[in-house]
Amino acid sequence: MSIRKRIVTIDGPSGGGKSTASRALAARLYFTYLDTGAMYRAVAFQCHKNELEAKETPELSDLLDSMTMELLPPQAGGDDVRVVVNGDEIGPELRTPEMGMLASKYSGLPSVRQTLTRLQQEIGKEGRIVAEGRDTGTVVFPDAAWKFFLDASPEERAQRRSAQLQSKGESVNEAELLAQIIQRDKDDRERSLAPLAAALDAITIDSTQLTADEVVEAMYQHVLHTSCCRDE
Ligand code: C5P
Repeated sequence: MSIRKRIVTIDGPSGGGKSTASRALAARLYFTYLDTGAMYRAVAFQCHKNELEAKETPELSDLLDSMTMELLPPQAGGDDVRVVVNGDEIGPELRTPEMGMLASKYSGLPSVRQTLTRLQQEIGKEGRIVAEGRDTGTVVFPDAAWKFFLDASPEERAQRRSAQLQSKGESVNEAELLAQIIQRDKDDRERSLAPLAAALDAITIDSTQLTADEVVEAMYQHVLHTSCCRDE
């Protein structure tokens, strides 16, 4: 039997409740929360700022080679991980639906995935992390001890995202959000490289009818009752 790492992965489509569940589970387990989506968003932000097309070009390669990226804990009162790229913190634009769409475009590029996968593996090498994303259980941490795939209906996900944005004081067009969610799922699922998919050994949870607390409790109980590594 291969040695499993003390890592939890939570993959799934956008708006399925991954961020809330990952943050809460990490806090309960005293693990570090790794928000891989924020890293893809940060690369998209940089590419967009430098007016790079979503293509493998020498410019993209230079940008990735020279880029430094640091993840910082949320500021007091907030709950979003902060991302510092080349010494500058990216502001609230990182979390907009538009940046999510852009991230989805650039995230299909092999060089972007390679760069970020390597960085994520480096961050997770000591274990004790909860990694959230699309491919954390399949590609980034295939040897993670506990893998979840969190899903919910597109309508439920659009409604949740809408409530989340409204709570931040942003105006929302729910029909447009739903269309974006469906398009982003399609792009993420159909890309050839590291497509959004449940790992064969992942537990799928459909959160459509569940509260966030119920999701976290189910995950927590599973982690508590499944042994992980040989040294336990
Ligand atoms: O999770 P979040 O909405 O922040 O992710 C933004 C986009 O980044 C996703 O739609 C997806 O295209 C990309 N992503 C990815 N692999 C990950 C995390 C995010 O391709 N592990």
